[in-house]
Amino acid sequence: MTSTNDIRRSFLDFFGKADHVQVPSAPLVPYNDPTLMFVNAGMVPFKNVFTGLETPPAPRATSSQKCVRAGGKHNDLDNVGYTARHHTFFEMLGNFSFGDYFKEQAIENAWTLLTREWGLSPDKLTATVYHTDDQAFDLWRKISGLPEDRIVRITTSDNFWSMGETGPCGPCSEIFYDHGDHIFGGPPGSPDEDGDRFVEIWNLVFMQFDQQADGSRRELPSPSIDTGMGLERIAAVMQGVHNNYDTDTFKALIAASERLTGVSAQGDHAASHRVIADHLRSTSFLMADGVLPSNEGRGYVLRRIMRRAMRHAHLLGSSEPLMHRLVPGLVTEMGQAYPELVRGQALIEEVLEREETQFRKTLDKGLKLLDEATGEMSEGAELDGETAFKLYDTFGFPYDLTEDALRARGIGVDRSGFDAAMTRQKEAARAAWKGSGEAASGEVWFDIAERAGATEFTGYSSTSGEGTI
Ligand code: ATP
Ligand code: MG
Ligand code: MG
Ligand code: MG
Repeated sequence: MTSTNDIRRSFLDFFGKADHVQVPSAPLVPYNDPTLMFVNAGMVPFKNVFTGLETPPAPRATSSQKCVRAGGKHNDLDNVGYTARHHTFFEMLGNFSFGDYFKEQAIENAWTLLTREWGLSPDKLTATVYHTDDQAFDLWRKISGLPEDRIVRITTSDNFWSMGETGPCGPCSEIFYDHGDHIFGGPPGSPDEDGDRFVEIWNLVFMQFDQQADGSRRELPSPSIDTGMGLERIAAVMQGVHNNYDTDTFKALIAASERLTGVSAQGDHAASHRVIADHLRSTSFLMADGVLPSNEGRGYVLRRIMRRAMRHAHLLGSSEPLMHRLVPGLVTEMGQAYPELVRGQALIEEVLEREETQFRKTLDKGLKLLDEATGEMSEGAELDGETAFKLYDTFGFPYDLTEDALRARGIGVDRSGFDAAMTRQKEAARAAWKGSGEAASGEVWFDIAERAGATEFTGYSSTSGEGTI
């Protein structure tokens, strides 16, 4: 079996041999984009290169980039534990051409790596192209020899990438792997494509146009390539398993979680173990890159992820803080590739233990309130916003933790009621403050608090400048 660490190496070496400079992963907190919460794609550190603001490190580059998708335009938090292929933290393997090679070479490279170097069977692969991109369609025919019905033309924005309202954009081609008909899901473009049977492994973006503010598109003088492949997804394929959580890295993390909780990951508790393993990675990597739990901004996203994992640890019956005890296992698995984990280990363990100790003080009481409020409810019902807000305000339950806790029973949460309760509380606090006769400074403080709002991250998500591939 090829280990995940070996696959990462093999990818970088393959492109290294094809004259790509190996660039280390950038930190998860973007240095070049204040509108973006976390780096969520391999191209993010190169944004300014693609727009022409910075000169490229070389004509070609390759990287394995740490990514977090838990907030903003790309939020996979709710998928974790429930799909076979989504994580909050994952590694994106990429190769980049900055005005150097284009479509033909990009498709050629991808096909050669997958089918020759790594030996995947072409029978298992399907490619998609943007419906108007005849050039990509013809290149796939020529290079891969795939039959025409496995080069699927897609009309949606899934296959057209853009950096923002203006700037570089272009069609993309995604490569899917068929995990077999014993798994639910249809091919790309079909109504049930969201299943786990046909899994998207690699996205090739052909940056070809420059989107103008007036809606027109100009051809870029030197088109570029940006690709992204999920390491955990290709590891599942190469290790012959049908779920990312069954790959070597996750197996080791889940085994440690089983050992420490004494609860098997087979059967009913699979999702909890997966959530714990996934959130252990995202929280540890975020802290290694300098994010600490807080009540606002990035720190609050971190806290939300942590607390959700801690609720699952509680669900597995662990009576003591669990998360920090899983860190050594993570460092064993990933510390060599990411030395910042080793450097941060002591801090990560300490913060996790402190947070879990703290959260456990109110967790039981909050869960009891939640049980009382929903005891009589059946599938399809909705928890009122007031109670969800009380859980947040008094018991420290982030909104999505409440949602996650009720999900298995098919019960929803009234989001607008929650938001309304939050607004009312802020207004009450503001009014109370004005009464003190210091309205001016109070105003400023509350405005700042509001802008950095504990649960309001729409400022980040509504910007279209988000890096994505
Ligand atoms: P999906 O449609 O499966 O959600 P995507 O189209 O959002 O994936 P891209 O933005 O194209 O993903 O990212 C490039 C690659 O990164 C994907 O082809 C996939 O292999 C991987 N990837 C994306 N999101 C995740 C995730 N949450 N966890 C693990 N891998 C991911
Ligand atoms: Mg996605
Ligand atoms: Mg997709
Ligand atoms: Mg994609």
